[in-house]
Parts: sequence; structure tokens; C-alpha cells
Amino acid sequence: MELTFWGVRGTCPIDRKDATRIGGNTPCASIETARGDWIVIDAGTGIYELGRRLAAAGPRPKRLSIFFTHFHLDHVQGLPFFEPLRDPGTEIVFYSPAEPRDLRAHLGRLMGAPFFPVAFEATASKKEFRRIDGRTIRVGGAAVSACPLNHPQGSVAYKIEEGGAAVVFATDTEPPAGGVDGWLAEFAREADVLVCDATFTPREYAAGRQGWGHGTWRDGAKLAAAARVRRLLLSHFSGWHTDRTVRAIERRARAVFAASDAAREGMRLSLPSA
Ligand SMILES: [Zn+2]
Ligand SMILES: [Zn+2]
Repeated sequence: MELTFWGVRGTCPIDRKDATRIGGNTPCASIETARGDWIVIDAGTGIYELGRRLAAAGPRPKRLSIFFTHFHLDHVQGLPFFEPLRDPGTEIVFYSPAEPRDLRAHLGRLMGAPFFPVAFEATASKKEFRRIDGRTIRVGGAAVSACPLNHPQGSVAYKIEEGGAAVVFATDTEPPAGGVDGWLAEFAREADVLVCDATFTPREYAAGRQGWGHGTWRDGAKLAAAARVRRLLLSHFSGWHTDRTVRAIERRARAVFAASDAAREGMRLSLPSA
């Protein structure tokens, strides 16, 4: 499968000269499976560019699956501007931890008057709404499962597996004080790639950010070591973090878990099937 990052910035999109390497769009990643299925994780502002590329490339995939980790603005705010939403030939299956009718209502409110001129239900794509719970869901050749995370109003991690390769997305989570989330470590065990929250530096976290539902590069590196993953990609960076800050974060994380890097907008990874 092919993993591409379209946005790795948490909270609010930014556009600053000192933060171009990592990029300024909020969370969105896509996975194109070996069988050609399209899986999208979150619809932050990064999804705008994904939609533009899909529309420009044509023939675009006829079926997309979008998985929401939760509904905080930074994870949904790009959806109204996602080009395939307006294409009558595209079928989009939306997944989230919420009941299907609630998921549908949340997206309707996101695009409701007076915040957006076209109602979500009036957009031309065909839509389906499904809840992801404890079961594993098949999307074409891939298997997708979820694990609850510690985050205000809840969030989930997703694991996408195909042909023996596994990617885990675990942004928007805060570990227990000084420790590792045991459920998440088990969920991510021996994954090829773990994408993990690195919103704060340890110093920022210590200065009154406990309980905000986010962690640090140190938490990510400790989790990666405990889960014995192959590679850690830190993500969901604060808008305060410049490229220089993120380089320092990478260096420090590597001292705890050697195979650590920052995820970057535009980064592509091929994960070969066994
Ligand atoms: Zn977030
Ligand atoms: Zn959140």
C-alpha cells in the first residue's frame, strides 16, 4: 500500500516561511491499497489538495472510504472543500466511532447555514455512513480496525492492514502520566509504521497542558519502543513549532527510539505486502 500525508499540523492550519518543510495543513492522510482501494484518514485542510489531485488526475477512484478519528475542527474542516464530494460519479463511505445517524448529522452541521452555501446532503456524491466499533472492517483488500484513545470527547486510533503490512494512526491522544497507554501499545504491536501525536514539547506539556488530550515526542518514542514498531512518524505538530523546532524534536526522539522521523506534508511511503 501507498501512504501519503496531506497535512500533519494540529489544531489550526498555518502558512509561515519558518514552517514549510513540515507544512501547515491540518490532518489528512491517504492509503491506496495494492488493489486500488482508497482509504482516507481524517479531513483536515490537507484533504483539499488530495481532492484537487484526484479531480485533476481523472479517472478518479469511484469509491472512497473516509475514516474520522473524531470530529474536532482540525480533523473535519477540509471536507466542505473536498472536490470528490461534488462528483455524482463518486461514492463516499464515511466511517467514525459515532452512530451512523449522528455521523451524518455532524457532517450536516459542519456544512450548515450560515457557515457554508451548499448543504452537505445536497452535494452530488453518493454517500454511506457506517460506525466503526470493535470489529475489523474490510475495505477491498485491506482490514481496518480501531482503538479508543484518551482525548476530550473521545477519539480513536486506526490500524490499516494489507498483505502483512500495517500502519497505525494515533494522533489526538494523551498517555497516562509518565507512562504508556497499554491498550494502544498492544493495538500497534509490531506495526510497520506508527503515526503518533507530538503536539507539545515536554516543556510545553509540563507548562499546564495536561488534560488537553495530546502528548509529546517523548510519549510517541516510548510508545513506539513498547509496541516494537518498525518506524515512528511524529505528527499533529503545534502551529507554534517551526521546522527548526521539529528537527530538534526528531533528534531527541531518535535518542529514545532510533527509527523516528517527523511526518511531513507530501511524504509518501510504499509498504510492500509480504
Ligand atoms: Zn487534532
Ligand atoms: Zn482533537
